[in-house]
Amino acid sequence: MSPISSVSCLSLALAASVWAQTPAHKQIIDMVNRHSAVYMQVSKSIWEYAELGYHEEKSSALLQRHLQEAGFRIQAGVADEPTAFIATYGQGKPVIAILGEFDALPGLSQAAAPDRSPVVEGAPGHGCGHNLLGSAAALAAVSLKEYMEAAHIAGTLRYYGTPAEEGGDGKVYMVRAGLFRDVDVVLHWHPADRNSVTNGGALAITSAKFLFHGVAAHAAFAPERGRSALDAVMLMGTGIEREHIPSNARIHYIISNGGAAPNVVPDKAELFLYARSPSLDTLDGIWARIEKIGQGAALMTETTLETRILGSDNNIVPNDALAKVAQRNLEEVGGFQYTAEEKHFAQALQASLPPGGAADLGLAASIQPLRKVDPNQPSASTDVGDVSWNVPTIGFIAATFVPGVVPHTWQAAACAGMSIGQKGMVVAAKSLAVTGADLFTNPQLVEDAKQDFARKMAGQTYKSEIPAGQKPPLDYRAR
Ligand SMILES: [Zn+2]
Ligand SMILES: [Zn+2]
Repeated sequence: MSPISSVSCLSLALAASVWAQTPAHKQIIDMVNRHSAVYMQVSKSIWEYAELGYHEEKSSALLQRHLQEAGFRIQAGVADEPTAFIATYGQGKPVIAILGEFDALPGLSQAAAPDRSPVVEGAPGHGCGHNLLGSAAALAAVSLKEYMEAAHIAGTLRYYGTPAEEGGDGKVYMVRAGLFRDVDVVLHWHPADRNSVTNGGALAITSAKFLFHGVAAHAAFAPERGRSALDAVMLMGTGIEREHIPSNARIHYIISNGGAAPNVVPDKAELFLYARSPSLDTLDGIWARIEKIGQGAALMTETTLETRILGSDNNIVPNDALAKVAQRNLEEVGGFQYTAEEKHFAQALQASLPPGGAADLGLAASIQPLRKVDPNQPSASTDVGDVSWNVPTIGFIAATFVPGVVPHTWQAAACAGMSIGQKGMVVAAKSLAVTGADLFTNPQLVEDAKQDFARKMAGQTYKSEIPAGQKPPLDYRAR
């Protein structure tokens, strides 16, 4: 057993004695248990649909139908995003929102099997587990609504169906449309290989395409007449690789257009780039230098440069007041045990991981202690960041993936389509639902969350690198 899981066993033991379950929490957890079979099936259907960002028609419709049948009012196609929706129950303050995602990733089609077996070769798959994410959020919302109704609790509960998390910035456009303006607290979660509260973190990101325009010519007969756009792309790449940036920043790119044939000097070539940093301000400085490198490459090759910003997300603002409550609730909910069959699946799947990649299977049963985010730890990006710059926000991760499995892999897609993923999803749903109930029944918690938010945001203003007026990029995968 690793030192980490010994610590979490200790915190679990403490949790059992310190955090006795209130009757309200017990009632909500029973409700989640009662609805869980239906939403596990919903997650399986969305896993089978495996729809890419802004094309999640069936996934979004399925979630809307279940929420509507449970008594939520539906606003569909919000923020100019056909697959975005808001499901609302109740009225008045406070307004508590739960975020749901449901988009898949290209190329990760995978059976619920512990070896690489695509269902359809090259087709999309749920390698980030968003089929579980959207379904657990709906399971939490439906259970919490049932509890509010039974206990006559006032306030507004909303489920935000947020499309295209994987590169389409669905939530950023929902923020811009003012859809979070009256929300008091946002709750979210994400599939992972362990159970934990995520208080802040994630890297701010900006993505863009740098398109160079040159002059075409016969590459052998008259190269002197040509000006190569591909030369510019390659010089830009060389410049970026020589860049001096903080060690926790990331720059990655592909050549998305390198010309048509070796015997034609390319008059168009394109570099598609992401840059990331734990802080958007630092990223702004890095971005300014990336743009200069592009201009330098154009100057060197007598080409011209056209830059298109495609997307941008902020880092997540932590909320320490909410983190305390979330941690307590996650410890109360607890993790889950593998059956013998699941253990067998997990061990077979772990055998496919790189050497040293597997982690202790006990991670699913334990809860990680609450830690401060370390900006030097490896991380990724999410459009939850932009929400958190506008509303006090707290998140969970739950052990839906076999320990050691990371998102955006076929192994993650396999777990998201079977019982291990579905059990992790229920841990998340319970944690979201009881935390939501605490916020509805204890106004001081909402007040503390707001005060913490105000402290964290002092001297900072929300901004997005996505140009003002830009519409949701519904065809972003084809651009
Ligand atoms: Zn992802
Ligand atoms: Zn994800």
